[in-house]
Amino acid sequence: MRLFDGLLACTAMALDPEFVALLRCPKCRGALLQNKSPQGFACTVCALFYAVDDDLPNFLVEEAQAWPLASGGASL
Ligand SMILES: [Zn+2]
Repeated sequence: MRLFDGLLACTAMALDPEFVALLRCPKCRGALLQNKSPQGFACTVCALFYAVDDDLPNFLVEEAQAWPLASGGASL
């Protein structure tokens, strides 16, 4: 199951601090801020929040939420 192993490696790498530092907003290429609760990444340039589900960041622009989140819990 090499494909599965690869997926696990990607998941583990996804939230590595060095990897996070390399992340860029897929929409505007701006730097992302990691948010703990709810878990995800916020772009302060275009004000979008990319949620992390099961340690997998969802960087689909269409599914990103407005930042700061209206539901609260967000703090920079
Ligand atoms: Zn952005």
